[in-house]
Amino acid sequence: PGSQTLYTSWIEVDTAILGDNIGIIRNMLADHVTLCAVIKADAYGHGAVATAHVALQSGATYLAVASMTEALELRDAGIEAPILILTYTPLHAIRQAVRSNLTVTIFDLEQARAYDRAVRDMRDPLKYHVKVDTGMGRMGVLARDALHMFRYLAALSHMQLEGIYTHFSVADEDLDFTREQVAQFKRVVQAVRASGFDVTYAHCANSAGVLQGPEFHMDMVRPGVMMYGMAPAPGLQLPPGINPALSWKTTVLQVKTLPAGHNVGYGNAYTTQETEKIAILPVGYADGLRRSPRSWQSVLIRGQRAPLIGRVSMEKATVSVQHIAGVVPGDEVVLLGSQGDDAITADEVARWLGTINYEVVTNILRHVPRTIS
Ligand code: PLP
Repeated sequence: PGSQTLYTSWIEVDTAILGDNIGIIRNMLADHVTLCAVIKADAYGHGAVATAHVALQSGATYLAVASMTEALELRDAGIEAPILILTYTPLHAIRQAVRSNLTVTIFDLEQARAYDRAVRDMRDPLKYHVKVDTGMGRMGVLARDALHMFRYLAALSHMQLEGIYTHFSVADEDLDFTREQVAQFKRVVQAVRASGFDVTYAHCANSAGVLQGPEFHMDMVRPGVMMYGMAPAPGLQLPPGINPALSWKTTVLQVKTLPAGHNVGYGNAYTTQETEKIAILPVGYADGLRRSPRSWQSVLIRGQRAPLIGRVSMEKATVSVQHIAGVVPGDEVVLLGSQGDDAITADEVARWLGTINYEVVTNILRHVPRTIS
């Protein structure tokens, strides 16, 4: 609480919940399947270093991030587990990747050749996984070109192949398409292995893939969103015991009663119809509370829903507390998470904003402090 009062809003991450979630995922996997915790985007807003520690204590043995910057944050914090960089590793940073024992993603032969030249005089080789595009149409070598590329990769003396992977585009909605992606991927993996390449980890499953069952798990799985207690899509059921680990809170700054016909906020976008008690909150779009076209519909105060009124400002928002007794400055306000018998989930906020739960948690800005308990 001491440090929380320095900030206008803060995130609370419950590491016991996070640990339970990851333990449940571990138990869904056969023993030979490696659990790689996806902790990019600051662990989906949960705090990368803290989440990495919990994940490694709860059954994960591999970590995945998006960028070199994210990987180095973990290394600087003393985390020694293997780290796969899923997206971007600039050429000028590739020697640092070797020094920090990071594993990079190769999606193009010229990229691999440039990396190999850059690290040729180093003692240790550059570890890499090859990304294969089996239908997502994003990063990766097309499945039909993969074997051809591997033949050239074999000539790169300072690169050490460790894995091969693909990513699903509709694992949360179209099982037939995803099965076809898996089948295509397995054909590539088989051909690569049959050609004599030593591939330790063939992997394809994001959270939705983990939920679809063992045929998707292969040597390693890469769940992100479900570790944090959120479903990858509204239609997909999480196993019992997996719960959201993150809350976003603030406190009431001021309470006042406005007369009828009084405006609230920029643009006079809201006008009281009758005498109305309102509460001002010290949180706004500069913290990640979206302003438009749609914002949060309500927050929790004293266990009840207080509807947002008027426009969200840069670091202020206003709610109606006409119907809530006893609201005073300093009262806890829940933007995400539970209070009393009610809860505002990332799924509910996603419906309000017209987006997905992933965006809700990753859009809370980094200056909002995480308190880890
Ligand atoms: N693997 C890759 C390559 C990703 O980009 C992501 C996230 O987008 C994941 C795994 C984790 O996905 P999810 O959060 O849906 O489990």
